[in-house]
Amino acid sequence: MEQMAKYDVIIIGGGTSGCAAAYICAKNNLKTLLVEKNNFLGGLMTGGLVIPVMKSSVKNYNCEYYNKLVETAKKYSSQITYKDNNDGWFNPQLLKIVLDEMLSNFSNLDILFETEVLDVIKQNKIVKSIILKTNLLSLPIEAKYYIDATGSAEFSQLCGCSFLDDENIKQQNSLRFIVGNVDIEKFCKFITKVDKNEDITNTYRNETNTNNELHFTTASTWDTNKYWALDEYLKKGVEKGILKEFDRSYFQLFSVAGAKGEVAFNCPRIHNYIDNPFKYSLELIEARRAIYRLYRFIKEYFEGFENSIIVNIATQTGIREQKRIKAKYVYTNDDILSAKTFNNPVLQADYPIDIHSDSINNSVLIKNICYQLPIESLMSADVDNLYAIGKLVGADFQAHSALRVQKSCMSMGEAVAKHIRQRLFPDAKI
Ligand SMILES: Cc1cc2nc3c(=O)[nH]c(=O)nc-3n(C[C@H](O)[C@H](O)[C@H](O)COP(=O)(O)OP(=O)(O)OC[C@H]3O[C@@H](n4cnc5c(N)ncnc54)[C@H](O)[C@@H]3O)c2cc1C
Repeated sequence: MEQMAKYDVIIIGGGTSGCAAAYICAKNNLKTLLVEKNNFLGGLMTGGLVIPVMKSSVKNYNCEYYNKLVETAKKYSSQITYKDNNDGWFNPQLLKIVLDEMLSNFSNLDILFETEVLDVIKQNKIVKSIILKTNLLSLPIEAKYYIDATGSAEFSQLCGCSFLDDENIKQQNSLRFIVGNVDIEKFCKFITKVDKNEDITNTYRNETNTNNELHFTTASTWDTNKYWALDEYLKKGVEKGILKEFDRSYFQLFSVAGAKGEVAFNCPRIHNYIDNPFKYSLELIEARRAIYRLYRFIKEYFEGFENSIIVNIATQTGIREQKRIKAKYVYTNDDILSAKTFNNPVLQADYPIDIHSDSINNSVLIKNICYQLPIESLMSADVDNLYAIGKLVGADFQAHSALRVQKSCMSMGEAVAKHIRQRLFPDAKI
C-alpha cells in the first residue's frame, strides 16, 4: 500500500497570511505543504485586487516575509513606495508571479493549486490527517500541525472548531475592479483642483518609482463627518440617474504600481449577506451592475477617464469579516484601547478600528493607538495542533476590524510559523 505523505505543517489557503506562513515555515526547514483552491497565490491581494497594503506608523514585529515581498516585487517593477513611505503599493496581477518566485524555490515546500480539503481525521483534540480533493484525486495526507489561512474558516469548520459570534454588526463587502487606459496626468490635474484636502486626495511622482509615473489616491463617502469634495460629483450622478444612492456610500480609488494608466477601485460596497447564499449571489450580480454604473459615471464626469475601459473585476469577493475562531485568548476591543502589551507579540500596529457600515454616518474609524497581539489569539481553543490566521484571528468584532489589514495578517502567518518551529525544535534558534 502507498505510504501517506507526511509534513511538519500543512497550510490551507495560499492568500495574504498563508503565503507568509508557508515562506517562514519553509525558510526554517519545516517540511511544508501549502494548499490553495485557486490556481494562483495571494488571495485578496491578487484575486481580490486589494491594494495597497495599509500602513501602520509604529515599528512592527515579524516583518521578514513582508520585507522579502517588497524586495522581490521591486525586481518585477510591481511595487512603488508612496510619499508617506508606504512601500506596500503592489501590482495585483504581477504579485501572482512574485509569490510564485518566492515560494516555489524551496525543496521542502510543496504547493497544491486547485485543491481543497474534503475531510479531517481527528483523535480527541488532535487533527491526525486530512483528505485533500484535487481536480482528479482524493489524497490522504498527514501533518504535525495545521494552519487555517482560508479567510472563511472552511478548514476549522471541518475540524469542528467553535467560533466567536458576539455581534450583530457586520462589515460590508466590496467587489473591487480596475479601469485601464486612463490619462492619469490629466486626472491628477483634475482631482487636485476638485479636492484640496491633501489628507484625502494627493498625488506623488518620484524618480525611484517605476518609469517616473504619477500616482494618486482619492476617496469620498456619503458620511457627513467631513467634507468629501468628490461626493458633490457622485450626487450629480445620482440626480442624473446614472448612479444609485448606495453607490455614494464608499468610493475610493488609487493608481496601480507597474500598470500605467490603470486605476483600482475599492468599491462598490455591497451588503453583507454571507449567511444567505441566495441573497449573497444576487448581491454579486448587483455589485457588477454597480461597477458598470460607476464606470459610466467616471467616464462622463472625471477628466482623464474619457477613453477608459474596465480591465479587471475581482475574482475573489472582498469579504472583510466572516468567521473568527474561538482562540485560547480572545482578543478584545479593550485590549486595543488600553494598548495592552504581551510577551513576544505577534505584531504591533496602529491601524485603526475600521468598520464599514451600510448606513449613513455609521462607519467607524478610530485612529492611532499602538496595540499588540498575543500568539494565543491564533491558536484554536478546541484543537491542539491547529492555528488560525489572517481574517480568522480570535478577536472580537471591533478588534478584528483593526487587525485584519494585510501587513498584520502577514505578521500573523510569520509568527505562527516560528511558533510551530519552536514547538517542533525547542532548542533551535530562529
Ligand atoms: C474590500 C476589502 C478591502 C480591503 N482593503 C485593504 C487595504 O486597502 N489594505 C489592507 O492592508 N487591507 C485591506 N483589506 C484587508 C485585507 O485585504 C484582508 O483582511 C487580508 O488580505 C486577509 O488575508 P487572509 O490571509 O485572511 O485571506 P485571503 O488573502 O483571502 O486568503 C485566503 C486564501 O485561502 C484560499 N482558500 C479559501 N478556502 C480554501 C479552501 N477550502 N481550500 C484551500 N484554499 C482556500 C483562498 O483562495 C485564498 O487564497 C481589505 C479587505 C477587503 C475585503
